[in-house]
Amino acid sequence: MRIEKLAGGLVSIPVPIPDNPLRYTLSYLIPGDHGLVVVDPGWDSEAGWSALKTGLAAAGATPADVTGVVLTHVHPDHHGLTARLRDAAGAWVAMHPAERASMLRDRQTPPSRALGDWLRGLAVPADEIDHLLGTFGADVDRHFAPLADADVLLEDGDLVPLAGRRLRAVWTPGHTPGHLCLLEPDVGVLLTGDHVLPRISPNIGLQLTGGDPLGDYLGSLDKVAAYDAYEALPGHEHRFRGIAARAAALDAHHRDRCAEIVDTVGRLGTPTVWEVAAALTWSRPWEKIGPMRVGAVAETAAHIELLVSAGRLARSGGYVTALSTKSTSSSAYRSAPAAT
Ligand SMILES: [Zn+2]
Ligand SMILES: [Zn+2]
Repeated sequence: MRIEKLAGGLVSIPVPIPDNPLRYTLSYLIPGDHGLVVVDPGWDSEAGWSALKTGLAAAGATPADVTGVVLTHVHPDHHGLTARLRDAAGAWVAMHPAERASMLRDRQTPPSRALGDWLRGLAVPADEIDHLLGTFGADVDRHFAPLADADVLLEDGDLVPLAGRRLRAVWTPGHTPGHLCLLEPDVGVLLTGDHVLPRISPNIGLQLTGGDPLGDYLGSLDKVAAYDAYEALPGHEHRFRGIAARAAALDAHHRDRCAEIVDTVGRLGTPTVWEVAAALTWSRPWEKIGPMRVGAVAETAAHIELLVSAGRLARSGGYVTALSTKSTSSSAYRSAPAAT
């Protein structure tokens, strides 16, 4: 993957994520009349910083020309380098208020501790929790702790303060509570962050504060499907056309998963969330998933929460029971659309 000059003076920069199968985050430069904004600077590493500077040079710029940093969301593979770029450039940092709130919560309670409490609430066996946290708990805390705070809050529909551009925030909660896509109508592109990727199904669920992230996510898929005429500029993989078809495929994937979970709960009686996760089909056998079981159990819990909202399942603590065995149309899996 190379630095690429796109229509309207935009530049896409693959910023490496060391030792990660995703390989890179796509950071985007958007020039305005005076200076430019960087969307999602990427993972914090020396290689990443030098990739970002090389990308700026390709746009005829240096870090001093950066007036602002806009985050689609605060995961460290997008937000890690923000503090360094902000300090070098004197730039403001913008994100959705719900994203800032979740980041500040993570600062108060180390994510590994919140994660342990959350896993206990889902009736995950104690030895599994010790194993999972022992594998990467410290790593999680290290990468979440120093993330840069926001100077500018962008609500749904707000314009990014960049003279000479109509760059608009589109709130798409689900992958995270304050995830934003960014619409540039004059170039005809939608920056989709981790909300819609061309091949990967984004992880939904590691939301330690409750709610119905999958219901939010499906509502947010409907929202971006309206921009089918736009080219998608995602946070990973590669740019693509066909946002509505991709949104429909992701929606169908989650609907199939809901049906599988209802069947599994019916078969097992009153399983724990953990037992449901272990009984589902994954891309690898359950025994070989290793620490990624955290993602698997989070994903399972998010689907269960949606099915509880839809009246198909009941959950009491970590235990789940089926409420109805009759099959329902896909709309029964949909909660109310995300508020806009
Ligand atoms: Zn993410
Ligand atoms: Zn990402």
